[in-house]
Amino acid sequence: MHELAIADRLLDRAVSAARDAGAERVDGLTVELGTATHLVPEQVAFCLDAVAEDTPAEGATVTFERVSARGECSCGWHGELETLAETVAGVPDRRCPDCGAEVELTAGRECRLKTVEIPEAPTTRKTDQTDQT
Ligand SMILES: [Zn+2]
Repeated sequence: MHELAIADRLLDRAVSAARDAGAERVDGLTVELGTATHLVPEQVAFCLDAVAEDTPAEGATVTFERVSARGECSCGWHGELETLAETVAGVPDRRCPDCGAEVELTAGRECRLKTVEIPEAPTTRKTDQTDQT
């Protein structure tokens, strides 16, 4: 399963980023996901949830930032590609609106970890010691 491999990679990066920052766990992660990746955010989130089990990222919230597909055509057209509304993944229409040829994608293939949320360190939990007897 393609999504699982992607989730695995994203998780690895998130966990090592958290570790580099001296954090013991990952609270959340933000993933940039281009519409031309054919990936459904819900599916990637589901896989991330599965691979995060028993890792420092278990239970972390996953946020997706969709990156619209852009392209350029040999005829000179360039811009944002229309999304084929009937597809579940929001797959872009790669045909040039001017001449109908297949355009070259310039954006929309992103699938990368953007930010990792870690707990604020150190955890300063206030201990109320007012109840003296
Ligand atoms: Zn064209």
